Amino acid sequence: MVELITAAMREGDWGAVLRLMHAQRQGPTTAPAGVGYDLPPFYREFEDVYRQLYWCYDLCNSWGWGGALPPVALFLNRSRRWTRVAGYAKPGATAVNGRVYCAISVTLNICARGNIDSLMTLLLHEMTHIWQFANGRRGGHGKDFKNEMLRLGIDEARRRVRVGSTADRICREAQMRHPGLVSRLRLCFHSTHRPTKGMDLAFFRMMMESR
Ligand SMILES: [Zn+2]
Repeated sequence: MVELITAAMREGDWGAVLRLMHAQRQGPTTAPAGVGYDLPPFYREFEDVYRQLYWCYDLCNSWGWGGALPPVALFLNRSRRWTRVAGYAKPGATAVNGRVYCAISVTLNICARGNIDSLMTLLLHEMTHIWQFANGRRGGHGKDFKNEMLRLGIDEARRRVRVGSTADRICREAQMRHPGLVSRLRLCFHSTHRPTKGMDLAFFRMMMESR
């Protein structure tokens, strides 16, 4: 197994590396000292961030849509360029085993400056686009979008989350389960290590296979 992993690493096939490591039930962060798995530093450093974000996605999906939304690949955008775009949802961004999946990108330059509420509200916003895509709707911020957000308890025009709403409960739950997530996003944004889209996708494939 170790030889297989080493070979995959030499070829730079991080998807295969992650799959193999998962297969032997040995998380990269729990690799015994001295074995010297040369996983990409960014991944080694921030595996917990990805796991927590996927956990948040599952929480929103289950409380917001009864688990009806499809799995989605999560990208971390670490660009330092000034932007107003806190995130975006992209239909058909990737394929795993012949199935096509959408992606959500999280802009750390904005989200790492906020708090858990702004992060979860952003996630629910992008997931409402996923809901549109999954139901053959056109996307955009039209009436169907606003109504769906209001149903969850988010009034974007007034930047308000209704107390006691689904969105409100989701924010409380995320805060309770992962109180350190946003400060981890901050470290992630300022890390000298770099993630790549390929790594983000490899992690998504690993998450899919571990379900
Ligand atoms: Zn939008």
